[in-house]
Amino acid sequence: MLTYIVGAGAMGCRFGYQMAEAGQKVVLFDGWQDHIQAIKEKGLIITGDQDKTVALDIRPFGQDASVCDLMILFVKAHQLETTLQETAHLRDQHTKVFCLLNGLGHEEVIKRYVDPHNIMMGVTVWTAVLLGPGQVRLKDSGTINFCALDPSGKEVGLEVEALLNQAGLNATYDQEVFKAIWTKACVNGTMNSTCALTDCTIAEFFSSEEGRLIVRQLMHEFITVAKAKGIALDEEKIYQYLMDLSVKLAGHYPSMHQDLVQQKRLTEIDYINGAVARMGADLGIDTPYCKMVTEFIHVKERQIGVR
Ligand code: NAD
Repeated sequence: MLTYIVGAGAMGCRFGYQMAEAGQKVVLFDGWQDHIQAIKEKGLIITGDQDKTVALDIRPFGQDASVCDLMILFVKAHQLETTLQETAHLRDQHTKVFCLLNGLGHEEVIKRYVDPHNIMMGVTVWTAVLLGPGQVRLKDSGTINFCALDPSGKEVGLEVEALLNQAGLNATYDQEVFKAIWTKACVNGTMNSTCALTDCTIAEFFSSEEGRLIVRQLMHEFITVAKAKGIALDEEKIYQYLMDLSVKLAGHYPSMHQDLVQQKRLTEIDYINGAVARMGADLGIDTPYCKMVTEFIHVKERQIGVR
């Protein structure tokens, strides 16, 4: 199976590296020239659980190439639509398009460019950090849950599951993937915006009574909107999961803090809390906490000149 990874940032490099190490045919595509150049010249420099430099096939989005069997999307959410346009020549009617972005509602964007029969949606708790052009830090292990949008995609979905597992990526074909996607969105929606806005580590935010109250309210809005969309999540179980995670990740700054505060980049807020606020408005459900944190993040993005 010829796999193209579209978006060769932190996560795209992790997946590309692990799949290439397993001997699979994988090519990375990206839009950041300095990063492409660095990998072409020196290879991908990996630090973290192991230190090594590996050669990877990386090309710019617009470059001509044969169509692929599987396209794994790993851009940031706001880059998704333009990237799907820029990589249309790399897909045909048989190409499966597999989305592993954080956030909600990406399938609606992908459907504008890809037949729903060819779409797979997933979520991953693998992590990676891009340290600079051609350099990533890869630590710890993770899992992937995913499913084809259409039941007819199951057979190829199981082939993709085997492919990812051969690369040690711990994938599970999961018919209830939207529960997993919403649960991860709930984690991001309670930890990311809050820690980015208050410049707190996860432990600093979650250890205050006020912080936990905000987490409760945000989580409740996610769960209420999910329920109205037919996705049943157990509120107490998710709250406990968030509390456990806040201990496990205590000293960490979430990725939105890295984007907004450390690297001064646009965040994915519109696809996390912002998505819940939009969906809530369509469904007639009040989501004041999600709406407000989204607006606060927008203010900050404007202040640093990225919105
Ligand atoms: P990333 O920011 O590392 O890369 C995304 C894209 O942005 C790539 O095309 C990359 O080349 C480009 N980019 C990054 N820095 C740039 C710079 N300084 N200048 C120009 N372009 C630059 O994103 P990621 O962390 O790989 O995340 C991709 C998706 O996966 C997101 O939806 C994210 O939420 C999700 N995700 C990330 C992690 C993680 O640990 N990083 C974990 C799970 C899911």
